[in-house]
Amino acid sequence: MRATEIVANLADVRQRIAAAALRSGRQPADVRLVAVSKTYPLADIATALAAGQTDFGENRLEELWLKVEAARAQQLDAIRWHMIGTIQSRKTREAAGPFALIHSVDRVRIAHRLSRDAEAAGCVLDVLLEVNVSGEASKHGFTAEEVLAAGADLLAQPGIRVCGLMTMAPYANDPERTRPIFRALRTLQEQLRERFPQGGWRELSMGMTNDFEVAIEEGATIVRIGSAIFGTRNE
Ligand SMILES: *Cc1c(COP(=O)(O)O)cnc(C)c1O
Repeated sequence: MRATEIVANLADVRQRIAAAALRSGRQPADVRLVAVSKTYPLADIATALAAGQTDFGENRLEELWLKVEAARAQQLDAIRWHMIGTIQSRKTREAAGPFALIHSVDRVRIAHRLSRDAEAAGCVLDVLLEVNVSGEASKHGFTAEEVLAAGADLLAQPGIRVCGLMTMAPYANDPERTRPIFRALRTLQEQLRERFPQGGWRELSMGMTNDFEVAIEEGATIVRIGSAIFGTRNE
């Protein structure tokens, strides 16, 4: 049955997260699991919520808003929504919503527009800066140099609170191959802390189904996991 499968998958993922944290000398509670529910129905989200999972990630604003409203109608108020996908600059107003965290601020222009729209909506948004560590042309994000150059400007935007960094590693059959990417994000976090101590650079959102254990070993504070919980998507 669908619900049984989701609950079992969640338990398995949580156990693997805890084991990876412990073997790298960290506490399981220091790693937050964002269950990536894109393409899956609210019924699946409700199942996971009943099993204690509160953080959910979506990568499209339209789908995210439909789910936010449907969840509200069903009084699933404990859900914390995360926006993890690319935001087009004409869509920043839709991104300035009731979200726990926006992981995907991938350029200065988006940061400026989000800040402006959040101010207009009377809120301050918690955001992460998405960094394209691998330099892959198909990936969105700041380069490390761009983040270091724009740090002060980004921290000064009144409508956003920069909480840390996010990256998407290129898919690799062997997750060990992504270890240098995660390590590089951690190194960048240390450089930013040193150069901009006024910022809160606490969070490292890195690691997906294929590579989350390696990401945790390298310091991930948030992992974004979809298929290991809800099943393989046919996108
Ligand atoms: C889809 C997605 C994930 C989850 O991917 P899985 O491989 O299914 O775990 C994580 N992060 C982002 C940004 C995504 O779009």
